[in-house]
Amino acid sequence: MEFGLTDEQLLLQRTARDFVARTCPVAVAQAWDEAATFPAELFTGMADQGWLGLALPEELGGGGGTAVELGIITEQLGHASLDVAMCFAGCLIPGLTVLRWGTDAQRERYLPAMLRGTGRFAIAMSEPDAGSDVAALRTRAVPGPDGFVLNGQKMWCTGAGLPGTTIALYARTDPSTQENGKHHGLSLLLVDPAAPGVRIQRTPTLARHILGTNEVFLDDVRVPADDLVGELHGGWKVLLSGLDLERVLMSAAYVGVAQATLDEMLAYSKTRSQFGRPIGTFQALAHAMADLQTDIDSARLLAQRAAWLHAHGRPCSRESAMAKLKGSETYVNAARWGMQILGGHGFATDSTMSFRWRESIVATISGGTSQIQRNAIARSMGLRCY
Ligand SMILES: Cc1cc2nc3c(=O)[nH]c(=O)nc-3n(C[C@H](O)[C@H](O)[C@H](O)COP(=O)(O)OP(=O)(O)OC[C@H]3O[C@@H](n4cnc5c(N)ncnc54)[C@H](O)[C@@H]3O)c2cc1C
Repeated sequence: MEFGLTDEQLLLQRTARDFVARTCPVAVAQAWDEAATFPAELFTGMADQGWLGLALPEELGGGGGTAVELGIITEQLGHASLDVAMCFAGCLIPGLTVLRWGTDAQRERYLPAMLRGTGRFAIAMSEPDAGSDVAALRTRAVPGPDGFVLNGQKMWCTGAGLPGTTIALYARTDPSTQENGKHHGLSLLLVDPAAPGVRIQRTPTLARHILGTNEVFLDDVRVPADDLVGELHGGWKVLLSGLDLERVLMSAAYVGVAQATLDEMLAYSKTRSQFGRPIGTFQALAHAMADLQTDIDSARLLAQRAAWLHAHGRPCSRESAMAKLKGSETYVNAARWGMQILGGHGFATDSTMSFRWRESIVATISGGTSQIQRNAIARSMGLRCY
């Protein structure tokens, strides 16, 4: 049994660590978040490293990497912030969906721009009444001879308002759900946010301000037939195919940001003294940090196992759900302890710990809540679970 990374993977890890230290240490990520700045240079920097094309095939200019290498980069970017890590992972996941399910023309149109860091994707699945139960989505795309006419509303569409973004949007193309079940009759469309009838409105949130989350209103939007990805009415299969990778990469991001959070509180606990000794020597705090490091190592192993299975084309829905669950809950717990160990210093809104804490709240919600991950794991154990 081999637990280590290869020499090439270790080099990639070091390169990503140096990239974060040079371009986006946590203080920079926090400043971007507080100013809601879109750092175009972050994307071009990642493109210069060859990371945005790492998982594309060589004929498209890519590096032929797998979920393992993507996870290594995502974990290191997580040391900057969750949002920085998701700038990388969140854009890649729909890009790889286009690679797998798209036509040659779609691949040629969208993927080279993604590889250069000038083109991005946002995913629009969620709606006001379709969150955890995403298959209940109601946005309607009526197929016609020239393409589709789209009407409805999307919510929480991360990055939809950024320049160079295409919205990968799931809509109902066949409304006869009573007959076939709600998972049938969905399709994936690539929507230009500048198309007539699209209106994007940013949702004020506690954190994740770099990419930003948005409501997307669709009013008689015309989508050309060429912008259908995969089979008409076959969108559920396409959506599921992206979910495992999303959980794998999100769990890597949580591991990175949880480790950075622990590193910060550990360093503080060694220099801050009360009652004549460093606070880290009080057993109550030392044990909490020992438990956190144990949880982070467990989360890392789960994330790496899920990435390895994905890279080898093996089923990993259960394993990626476990990795997402453990990683997100570990990060939330780490941020909570970070606030406690830094005492009043953490509560100051300009502290990096308060930024970690603000960002952590969403980890157990977006990308499928903790309850939904537990449901998936329980079902894989043969339990009926709603
Ligand atoms: C910052 C952010 C970014 C996001 N980015 C995107 C994006 O880019 N694209 C996109 O499509 N969506 C995105 N989302 C949406 C996200 O996926 C949903 O928020 C998530 O799936 C939960 O849906 P909901 O918020 O509607 O909560 P609900 O589904 O209404 O859930 C509310 C509560 O009920 C619980 N619950 C629901 N069903 C069950 C059940 N069966 N068993 C037990 N408990 C249950 C949930 O766990 C939760 O605690 C984002 C959300 C956030 C906050």
